[in-house]
Amino acid sequence: MNSEGQGGQTTWYQTGKLESNKDFSVETLQDIAKEFYEYVIDKPNARTSSTNACIVAVFGDRQTRKFTASTIPRGPVNARMGREGRQKAPLWYHQMQARNRLRSSGGEFHAEDGAMFRWESSPDSHGRTGHGVYLNDPIMGVYGDPGFRNPGVKDLNPCEKCLPVVGALDIGYHDSNGGRSSPTYSDGIDDEDMMEVDC
Ligand SMILES: [Zn+2]
Repeated sequence: MNSEGQGGQTTWYQTGKLESNKDFSVETLQDIAKEFYEYVIDKPNARTSSTNACIVAVFGDRQTRKFTASTIPRGPVNARMGREGRQKAPLWYHQMQARNRLRSSGGEFHAEDGAMFRWESSPDSHGRTGHGVYLNDPIMGVYGDPGFRNPGVKDLNPCEKCLPVVGALDIGYHDSNGGRSSPTYSDGIDDEDMMEVDC
């Protein structure tokens, strides 16, 4: 994975494209999140100092089969999301604003936010947002250890603070509590420029 920031202010991230033999599904994204988690957890300062959490969220665009992964945004990445969100990821920013999750410098951002911001602020999102949502039924998988509040390494749903944002942007996810879940199907897109997951 790539990283930005130093020490306890490090954020890890990665973009890639699903291999053609993999289903475009929440399970697949959770498998990728698990791979990235296992990479990050061995690094110094992988866990947040406040909650001892290490979480990886992976957002996937169905049409391009590209995915964007992020750990909990800290330090310079967190600050940039707060500073540039309005302009570079306006749909995500609008939802965060509506839920009072922005601060004067950065915000209370989760791994889910990191993945959404990084995708929406990249050229990969061009033409793939509209009517206030992310188009074409994108999905998200989350994996990791939430730390002190709910210790243990596991598949995670977007957390209760992120669910309203994820839902409002029309992103599918797994919700074991009977909420909306995402369909699983192959979309048959040809993967000429297939890229391996490389962390
Ligand atoms: Zn969250």
